[in-house]
Amino acid sequence: MKTIKDFVFKNKKALVRVDFNVPQDENLVVTDNTRITAVKPTVDKILADGGSVILMTHLGRPKGEMNDKYSLRHVLSEVSKALGKDVKFVDESVGEKAEEAANALQPGEILLLENLRFHNEEEKGDPAFAEKLSKLGDAYVNDAFGTAHRAHASTAVIAQFFPSTKFFGLLMEKELVAIDKVLKSGEKPVTAILGGSKVSTKITIIENILPAVDNLIIGGGMSFTFIKALGGKIGKSIVEDDKMSLALEILEKAKQHNVKVYLPTDSVIADDFNNEAERKVVDIREIPEDWQGLDAGPKSREIFNDILLNSRTILWNGPIGVFEMSNFAAGTIALGESIAEATKLGAFSLVGGGDSVAFVKQFGYSDKVSYVSTGGGAMLESLEGLELPGVAAINK
Ligand code: AMP
Repeated sequence: MKTIKDFVFKNKKALVRVDFNVPQDENLVVTDNTRITAVKPTVDKILADGGSVILMTHLGRPKGEMNDKYSLRHVLSEVSKALGKDVKFVDESVGEKAEEAANALQPGEILLLENLRFHNEEEKGDPAFAEKLSKLGDAYVNDAFGTAHRAHASTAVIAQFFPSTKFFGLLMEKELVAIDKVLKSGEKPVTAILGGSKVSTKITIIENILPAVDNLIIGGGMSFTFIKALGGKIGKSIVEDDKMSLALEILEKAKQHNVKVYLPTDSVIADDFNNEAERKVVDIREIPEDWQGLDAGPKSREIFNDILLNSRTILWNGPIGVFEMSNFAAGTIALGESIAEATKLGAFSLVGGGDSVAFVKQFGYSDKVSYVSTGGGAMLESLEGLELPGVAAINK
């Protein structure tokens, strides 16, 4: 893997693609700067070498038109604060002004370009636009894992203009190493927990990870398609009837790969999809007709806990209950606790993709697991076994 550690940036201008697509409030003030602080190590290394940094990113969906609401000038002060250095700004990403600003940049300085998506050419992956961008720097660094699954001008196409000076940033490296640690070089036993609402959105992930894992825990809404396919009564629980045969095929494939599959054995059920609904715990195969399973029951939590405490590598994607409703969050909290405990005991744990990331942030588990991915779609596509265009472009 070719990373910025392999290059000395002295007197070089590094064109760094970052993902500063940050959430903002109604006054356009940044409400979560995680994506900005995440690239500080990359910026620091380039500056420490005696180089300068030109940051480029998209923000929101301006659809190819200049729109002040999506201007990066609103994010500039937060970038300076998070990186601990005054950052310059130019209200263009390509063109004369951008070139002048880039030319004037001195070693130790940082320049932020205007929103790349003010130009349609960015998302189209236009080579001429990529070439114009490439003129701004001497080296290209991709540290935008969150957009690495897109073949856009600045995330992939641009790399061809830097045949010997294109590198992964340190955040990208961390993400790629974390995925590798789970899918390729994971210390055994490897356990994956897949939750969330639907089997259909996770099927490619399950198929791709089967050769790499020893245990597969299937929880959350998607478990009911399996339970029903196995003959259980699931009442009004969420189900995909047309995926039942697929569920049985997955179980068969898991057997062929010697993967032990664990489904919840009991469920916290409710008489309505609502936090104040009546609740009780039952065998997951015996849910009464008008009730629905909204969380993993206490026996299931114990079984999952035992497996996790005996695992050396853990991948978690998707909540195992409707954690957004406090009365149905206990199962996912217990799972978070088990993963935190396993991590303390030395396991490597990766939380990646979608709602499980939201959960660990909201419930304070971010520092209790080994790695929380910064890229939703990009992480999901990696787990599906797809090569991300942003990664392929550097590896070429
Ligand atoms: P996904 O985006 O597929 O990872 O699904 C995440 C969503 O699954 C969360 O919003 C959870 O509330 C939901 N979920 C988890 N367990 C259940 C369940 N038993 N019934 C309905 N939805 C669930």
